[in-house]
Amino acid sequence: MNDIVLTGDRPTGPLHLGHYFGSLANRVELQGRYPMYVLVADYQVITDRDTPGEIRRNTTDLVLDYLAVGIDPARAVIFQHSAIPELNQLLLPFLSLVSVAELRRNPTVKDEIAHSSQRAVSGLMFTYPVHQAADILFCKGTLVPVGKDQLPHVEVTRLVARRFNERYGTVFPLPEAMMGEQPLLKGLDGGKMSKSRGNAIALSATEDETAALIRKARTDAERHITFDEERRPEVANLLTLAGLCLGRSPRELAGEIGDGGAATLKRVTTEAVNEFLRPIRKRRAELGEGDARRILAEGNERARERAVLTLEEVQQAMGLSAS
Ligand code: ATP
Ligand code: MG
Repeated sequence: MNDIVLTGDRPTGPLHLGHYFGSLANRVELQGRYPMYVLVADYQVITDRDTPGEIRRNTTDLVLDYLAVGIDPARAVIFQHSAIPELNQLLLPFLSLVSVAELRRNPTVKDEIAHSSQRAVSGLMFTYPVHQAADILFCKGTLVPVGKDQLPHVEVTRLVARRFNERYGTVFPLPEAMMGEQPLLKGLDGGKMSKSRGNAIALSATEDETAALIRKARTDAERHITFDEERRPEVANLLTLAGLCLGRSPRELAGEIGDGGAATLKRVTTEAVNEFLRPIRKRRAELGEGDARRILAEGNERARERAVLTLEEVQQAMGLSAS
């Protein structure tokens, strides 16, 4: 069977190195080999905050980040959640296929609730993984390049697909998650690197901003640099970042830095990150908001055509359609 790739991101801020090594690198590698859909998950922004914030700006910035890393709109359909009402229509029957207990058990949802700025947890927070099932299944996606935090959601999608097929006849494939080289990159505070937790190195940050962020990163009191994730997580994290950007093992880098201490470690990391991001940043500087808007308009149209077909098939399978 030929694969179909679906993945996406929330327009909550600039893409960062965690996205690159968790998912973006795989997308660039897969595009052209398989049909690929890339979703700007705008409705998902309000799962853990009260309003969508700077959504228009964040949406075009996200598309520009995609283009900068090499996602090619001629080979990938880039589209927005809010432009495809059929996704919301698919949500309804899908919700009937999962239990409240299953929604409550989701470990990523629990973690996001812990970091949420909302005072009351919304219903959307518990149900968005099912919305995500609609995002993946509308195009019959089979391969989902994501970071580790998304594994429980891909499981929900498989559950929905399996139960739908059992109840109404086979319509959907069971998609697989595909994790990147670094499925859970840590941020400069030691937690998951996240757009909205202020601990990320954005792909689009300037070289000086990058240097300042790494300068502020915590290390420890031991002078000699070693790679020890258990005992020295802060130092290990910087070594991991530098290693990913240089395509080298963090342990080997630690051996070379040795007595150079934290100052050398930070210099090496800053240079590695800035060098790695230079071509990406250069490409981004050449693009404007108009490019992003045009690409979204085209992508929305193509995604919508696909979604209409799947919704018809679903309604037919359920005996709802008049035809
Ligand atoms: P937010 O803080 O707003 O939730 P985020 O940084 O978690 O933003 P998302 O848009 O939620 O980013 O996630 C987009 C994709 O990037 C998902 O596939 C997710 O698994 C992956 N991803 C996000 N953060 C990391 C990370 N630190 N390491 C690896 N992959 C990541
Ligand atoms: Mg997230």
